[in-house]
Amino acid sequence: MEFLAKDLSNLRQHNLYRHLNTMNEAQTARTIVNGKKCILLSSNNYLGLTEHPELISAARDAISLWGTGAGGSRLTTGNFRLHEELETAIANFKNTEAAVVFNTGYMANLGTITALTGKEDVIFSDELNHASIIDGCRLSRAKTVVYPHKNIGALEKLLQQASGWRRLLIVTDGVFSMDGDLAPLPGLVELSEKYHALLMVDDAHATGVLGDRGAGSANHFGLEGKIPIQMGTLSKAIGSAGGYVAGSRDLIDYLRNKARSFIFSTALPPSVIAAALAALGVMQKDPQLRQKLHFNARYLRSRLKQMGFTILAEESPVIPVLIGDANKTVQMAQQLLVLGVFAPGIRPPTVPPGTSRVRATVMATHTRDDLDQALAAFGEAGQILGIIR
Ligand code: PMP
Repeated sequence: MEFLAKDLSNLRQHNLYRHLNTMNEAQTARTIVNGKKCILLSSNNYLGLTEHPELISAARDAISLWGTGAGGSRLTTGNFRLHEELETAIANFKNTEAAVVFNTGYMANLGTITALTGKEDVIFSDELNHASIIDGCRLSRAKTVVYPHKNIGALEKLLQQASGWRRLLIVTDGVFSMDGDLAPLPGLVELSEKYHALLMVDDAHATGVLGDRGAGSANHFGLEGKIPIQMGTLSKAIGSAGGYVAGSRDLIDYLRNKARSFIFSTALPPSVIAAALAALGVMQKDPQLRQKLHFNARYLRSRLKQMGFTILAEESPVIPVLIGDANKTVQMAQQLLVLGVFAPGIRPPTVPPGTSRVRATVMATHTRDDLDQALAAFGEAGQILGIIR
C-alpha cells in the first residue's frame, strides 16, 4: 500500500491535494466554515431553499409519517407514493410527459448516458461538460467525440464526418458549472434535428434558476418540447438532493428499465423527496426568490467589474473571477477567507491552465450588506495580491 502515501505526497507537491472544508452551520448567507465566520459565496443553494421553513416542515412530516429510509430500490420496496408525486410535479414543472428521479445528478447522468448508448453509438460532448457526463460517456463504451466549447461550427463538421453509427447523442451542460456560461441551445437543437442526433442537456445549475418559470435552459431559450432529454439535479436551487430526467413517457419508461444507477441503488429517503416536492411549490408561489437571485448576481458582477476584475461569463449566478495564475488564485481564495469571504479558487486540471479563477456564486438570500462586505474583501485581497490597482 506504499503507493498511497507516495501518490498523496505527489499531489501535495503539485498543489493538487484536495482539502475538505467543514461547514459548522447551515448554507446561509453568513455561516461558519472551518470554525470561521464568513460570508458564503460558494454554495449552490441558489434560492436559499435548504433553510426554507416549508421544506424543513415537509421533510419533518415525511420522517414522522414514512420513517427515515426507503428500505429498498425503487423497483423493489423503495417506491413511496411521494416519489411518484415528485416525478409528476417535475414533469409538470418541466412541461414534459414524464420524469424519473435518480439518487443524485451524478447518477442521473451515468444511468441515462449508459442506458441510451453503447459500443455502436457515438456521443458528441462539449469539452467543458461536467465530470458526471464524462464518466457516463466512458462507462457507456460509445465512441466519444469531444467538441470545442460551445463551437457549433466545429460540432457540425464532426457530425458531418460521423457515419455508420447506430445512434448519435449530443450532450451538453445547460449552464457550465465552472464558467457560468450557457450552452448555445438553439444551435444545438438545429444540429440535432438536421443530423438526427439525440440531444441531452444537463440543467444542474439551470433548474430553478433560468427561464421565466425557473424551469431551466429550455424554458430560458423558449425551446420547450425541442430537447428530448433534460437532466437536472434537486441538490442545488431545489435545496434537497437527487437527480432527475424529464422527457417523453417512453424515454422515462426506458430509463426505469435500463438505467443501472436507477435500478441497483436504494431509493432516496422520503424526507429528501418531500423537501424537493415542497421546493417546487415554493418556487411557483414565490418567483421573487429567483428575481432576487438574478438581482444579486448582476449587482456583484457589475461591482467586481467596476473594481477592475475580469469576469469570465455574465449569464448566470455562477461568477468566475479570472485570476489566471494557479498559485495566485489559491492565495486570493485564502486571503478572501482571512477577510471573511468563502469563495473557492478553481485551478487546473479542473479548468485550463492560465484560466484559474475564484468561483463566486450568489444566493437569493444574500443581503446588500452581505454583498458589499464581500466586495470590500475582494477589493482588499485583489490589491494586496496586485490583481487590481
Ligand atoms: N451536472 C453538473 C453540471 C453539476 O454541476 C453537478 C454537481 N456538481 C452534477 C451534474 C451532479 O449533480 P449532483 O450533485 O446532484 O450529483
